[in-house]
Amino acid sequence: MQLSFNFPSPIETILFEGERFFLKRDDLIHSDFSGNKARKFYYYVMHDFPEIQKIVSSGSNQSNAMYSLSVLAKVKGWDFEYFVDHIPDYLREYPQGNYKAALKHGMKIRVQNPGLRAQGEGELWIEEGGRQREADVGVGLLAEEIVAWQQEQGINSLKVFLPSGTGTTALFLQKNCLLLTAGRSLKTAIFTTPCVGDAAYLKKQFLELEVDEAWHPMILDLEKKYHFGKLYRESYKIWLKLRHQTGVEFDLLYDPKGWMTLLAHLELLEGPWLYVHQGGVLGNESMLPRYERKYKDLTSENNREQYNKLCE
Ligand SMILES: *Cc1c(COP(=O)(O)O)cnc(C)c1O
Repeated sequence: MQLSFNFPSPIETILFEGERFFLKRDDLIHSDFSGNKARKFYYYVMHDFPEIQKIVSSGSNQSNAMYSLSVLAKVKGWDFEYFVDHIPDYLREYPQGNYKAALKHGMKIRVQNPGLRAQGEGELWIEEGGRQREADVGVGLLAEEIVAWQQEQGINSLKVFLPSGTGTTALFLQKNCLLLTAGRSLKTAIFTTPCVGDAAYLKKQFLELEVDEAWHPMILDLEKKYHFGKLYRESYKIWLKLRHQTGVEFDLLYDPKGWMTLLAHLELLEGPWLYVHQGGVLGNESMLPRYERKYKDLTSENNREQYNKLCE
């Protein structure tokens, strides 16, 4: 396996709900690397670490970061040890999605708290979800691609939207865009919404990486609370609509909340908007069957009647 990234990722125009958006296809960076994590782990892909033999990380048993780290470890010839707090019996018996793919790449999974264990020699520890400063390198490249494109298109003021988990990507993106546009007549403003935790949690994450709030992205949110990994009828609906109207498959964990939030703020915040598709589609393999089972009435997207119902 070789890691050759498709940089710069393409930018397309899509029409959704009658509005025009630009779409940054980071999902197309690499088929074996969740787009967002290709940016965040780019530093590790690029550099040699002769003293490292093993990656150690932790997080959820279906995370995109886990899968991408399993690919990184494989490419580098390292071991990969991953700590989770539990593995559902169902998943153990019928591995699927990111979990299945990561196991295939040789991940050793441990049901244990990694905090109880000291860092060994030759181990590279990576924080849950890739929340670390090294992410600045790859996310900086994303900023360069966006600002260069913006200039080429003659767009003086661009609004960029991407949904957040740890907020690492949004924060470093805003920082790098500010650095790149300083003293120029270009403005690139980053907007995001929390998908894990609430706005206060996300703000805290930003502050841990950068104390000066002048460098922070803008946080937009909805009144209703959405819990990460839980199924909501309107999330499935907007995901199906996106697929139907744009032909693009989005992720089911972050993008539904992302698009719902963006649509809710369009009247207030004038575009042009660029939405960053951060990949994660492999995770749909486990999420989609759950949605299909739960909302059977919405499931067959080829059925005209059902599609009309969706649009009600
Ligand atoms: C990891 C991930 C995110 C969240 O990125 P953060 O930097 O943690 O905010 C969003 N979307 C997808 C598809 C991801 O894999």
